[in-house]
Amino acid sequence: MEIANLLEALPARYTPADQDLLQRAYRFAAQAHEGQMRLSGEPYVNHCLAVAIILAELHVPPVVIAAGLLHDTVEDTDVTLDNLRKEFGEEIAKLVDGVTKLSHLPRVSRVGAGANGAEDRSRGADLASETLRKTFLAMGEDVRVVLIKLADRLHNMRTLGHMPEEKRRRIARQTLDIFAPLANRLGIWQLKWELEDLAFRHSDPETYKQIAASLADRRSSREKQLDSIVDRLKEMVAQEGIKAEVSGRPKHLYSIYNKMRRKAVGIDNLMDLRAVRIIVPDVPSCYQILGLIHTHWRPVPGEFDDYIAAPKDNFYQSLHTAVIYDDGRPLEVQIRTPEMHEQAEYGIAAHWRYKEGRPQDQEYERRVVWLRQLMDWMQDVDDASQFVDTMKTDVFSDRVYAFTPRGDIIDLPAGATPIDFAYHVHTDVGHRCRGAKINGKLVALDYQLKTGDQVEILTTKRGGPSRDWLNANLRLLNTERARAKVRHWFKRQDQEQNVANGRSHFERELRRLGIVEPDLEDLAKEAGFRHAVDMFEALGTGDISMGRLINRLNLEREDRTPELVPTASSIPQVGGDAVNVLGLKGLLTQFGKCCKPVPGDEIVGYITRGRGATIHRRDCPNMLRIRDRERLVQVSWGEPKSTYPVAVRIFAYDRDGLMRDVSTVIADEGISMSQVKVEVSQRNEATFDLILNVDDIGQLSRVLSRVEALPNIMEARRVRPG
Ligand code: MN
Repeated sequence: MEIANLLEALPARYTPADQDLLQRAYRFAAQAHEGQMRLSGEPYVNHCLAVAIILAELHVPPVVIAAGLLHDTVEDTDVTLDNLRKEFGEEIAKLVDGVTKLSHLPRVSRVGAGANGAEDRSRGADLASETLRKTFLAMGEDVRVVLIKLADRLHNMRTLGHMPEEKRRRIARQTLDIFAPLANRLGIWQLKWELEDLAFRHSDPETYKQIAASLADRRSSREKQLDSIVDRLKEMVAQEGIKAEVSGRPKHLYSIYNKMRRKAVGIDNLMDLRAVRIIVPDVPSCYQILGLIHTHWRPVPGEFDDYIAAPKDNFYQSLHTAVIYDDGRPLEVQIRTPEMHEQAEYGIAAHWRYKEGRPQDQEYERRVVWLRQLMDWMQDVDDASQFVDTMKTDVFSDRVYAFTPRGDIIDLPAGATPIDFAYHVHTDVGHRCRGAKINGKLVALDYQLKTGDQVEILTTKRGGPSRDWLNANLRLLNTERARAKVRHWFKRQDQEQNVANGRSHFERELRRLGIVEPDLEDLAKEAGFRHAVDMFEALGTGDISMGRLINRLNLEREDRTPELVPTASSIPQVGGDAVNVLGLKGLLTQFGKCCKPVPGDEIVGYITRGRGATIHRRDCPNMLRIRDRERLVQVSWGEPKSTYPVAVRIFAYDRDGLMRDVSTVIADEGISMSQVKVEVSQRNEATFDLILNVDDIGQLSRVLSRVEALPNIMEARRVRPG
């Protein structure tokens, strides 16, 4: 490895002066480490160069790369901070000093469940969180120090193979416990995934090899498949007229392993997981593409996450979903904008990839404000014991680090409860959470987690969240992400329930009115819904009344096969004096073609020039839009011109005054009866056969409901002719 490799990796905008600085730093480091070797047998300075190249790929400023070249000089050679200060200035010396101080991390980062169980575990957790605290404090001082440390760790992990086995495992565990979460916290996915995969490989080599081998086995068929999916998506997106980048998304081994563990499934089930990423120019397009995908393929329940509306704690944004693809197997989809993509890959380092004044600067500022809170606090404290106390209460007042039983760190906002924890582990674990043990002891679900707590979630096999969780007074859920997931669950549940209620209500009404199999999709469209399901849901929630729908049906049917056949002598005439215009009797009226009002609709008149008044429905969009409201006149339906004879049968247990009550209701609706027949059986069951002369289906529906509500009536329904 040579300095040329580094110069090649530099972003194009680096000046000759920048390159000169790096060459000087390289020569200085090479001289300082002269004669030192890495375990691999390479000259030590190659490590410094590799760290600098990792930093250059993040596009950090030249001083940070220079500090990367010099990061081990003070720790491992005769070079002093003063030497560095003289040679390279205050800024670079300070960066190297920061990295040196960060090197002294506690050795134990995790203790497995051994014979001494709980005690060992909590001590291990303490040390791990202590390390995290230190690291976060360093971040408060200068995030660039942490980037150098992460680059250092990444190269050490890449060359870990030369270490003895025992040491290898320990370093790998520490990487999983501290450095990968740290990279995640800073949002630098590019560092996080590689740290995780390398650490996984060395901490659990057997499982790693197994997964890697299974992946390699099916690589070519998987890639072919993914190519065809990508092509299909590209075509679909292009038809929408959106410029998008569609690509297959490689899943890294550690995330596959985590998924296997979380879902408790074997590698074979996970091989089905194909993932694509779609990058579109702006946020509206993200949702448009999401809608497109969800209309083409059925979404997998519980797999949709809107990290655009509710970004992750590390500022990550994207839409996530999974759908059942044409072949009946799941396909994962991520949708994001180019800016979100930069943020997702480089996190806090994305800032340096752009010139000033880009939106990324605001993002950087937000992160820096967060880090600065830690720094402010450091300046206020002199005393060591106060230091520790305040650290426990203040510094981490906005974050809590709790552990899963396997020792994974879950990073939560302060105030988080076991249920929040469960939702952060996995949505499904959250839904099924029923209890929790903290450090082995059962706690109430409103327990507020503390840093270092080891949390075991007790779940039920089936079932969902409780509505109580959303009651803010009970403080059972204190993170927005978890709350959103609970709300979403209920929304879906409620939706299904409402659709079912609406449908059965509607079907009951159809049976009663003797209407057989109307075209539901047509009716739904007519009533302004996309699908019958939406119409049923609106009925179920009460957003639309049954009467309103039934009136639609009436209108619908009059056009084609009439549900109500009028008597020959009374052809219905809609128009003319069927409508009374209040205060303007005799005015010529006609019906709006836009909204086609039918008797029963609420209506309004609109005075036209020279053509009298046009009658519209009160909720007609054209009327709502009218500016000249003086031309609107109040109108009402006049006496209907015609009625329709309908055969109705009523079943009841006979009682005194039953016939009188039925007649009263019918008369009250203004309906005349042209035929009445009553039979009472020996068992006192009465059957009424009536011919009612009704105005429309709405009136029939109303009178049947009112009759059915009378005491002793079992059923009132229309008898279908023939
Ligand atoms: Mn190093």
